[in-house]
Amino acid sequence: MPILTQTCSRFAFETSDEAAARVAAKGLKKSVLRQIPIVVYGSSGSTDIGATECPICLGEFVDGEKVRVLPKCNHGFHVRCIDTWLLSHSSCPTCRQSLLDQHNASTSGSGNV
Ligand SMILES: [Zn+2]
Ligand SMILES: [Zn+2]
Repeated sequence: MPILTQTCSRFAFETSDEAAARVAAKGLKKSVLRQIPIVVYGSSGSTDIGATECPICLGEFVDGEKVRVLPKCNHGFHVRCIDTWLLSHSSCPTCRQSLLDQHNASTSGSGNV
């Protein structure tokens, strides 16, 4: 009888890419999304966005269009554009500032460093 040398190096090399991707692609919760204020572009003086076009689709804001303004950085985007983005991201597409509440939420101003 032939001797079968059993090499027990049968590692199941399962990369956990999927799991990693799931963690990385963390979108905002709907409840958080809903708290981001929406302004109507072009409405008398209330547009303090500082931009005339949406950085996501590069389309110009049209008067009367709903624009979502991120509270932390004041960047504005079409509601449909930023909502889609925030389904899989939790940061501003322009400045990458996280929209999630962090423990040290005192990012405003020059305090003691
Ligand atoms: Zn857009
Ligand atoms: Zn921003």
